[in-house]
Amino acid sequence: MSKKILVVDDELGVRESLKLILGDHYNLILTEDGAQALDCLKNAPDIGLILMDIKMPEMNGLEVLAEIKKVYPTLPVVMITGYKCVETAAEAVKLGACGYIVKPFKSDEILKKVKSVLK
Ligand SMILES: [Mg+2]
Repeated sequence: MSKKILVVDDELGVRESLKLILGDHYNLILTEDGAQALDCLKNAPDIGLILMDIKMPEMNGLEVLAEIKKVYPTLPVVMITGYKCVETAAEAVKLGACGYIVKPFKSDEILKKVKSVLK
């Protein structure tokens, strides 16, 4: 059984497009904020990759990333960012994210990135 992908994004539209792109190939868990995501991580040890938005209302993606890295330092996290936050995404990479994807993304871009991380 392949590993699960945890999606964290406050926008329903983004969660739905990631589900359309990845849902046939991977097992997805969709969450809308950092608290939900951290909760899922506790209960689903078979998560192999996290795709996470940067701009979220409660905890932002960098804060959630820091929490995740404290507990799961080797778990790959790919940030999803608006083009206005590309600098923040670069900062996330310094904090341990293994890359980022800029919105609006293309499906082959997502598939390629996910494939390269999960191989
Ligand atoms: Mg957002």
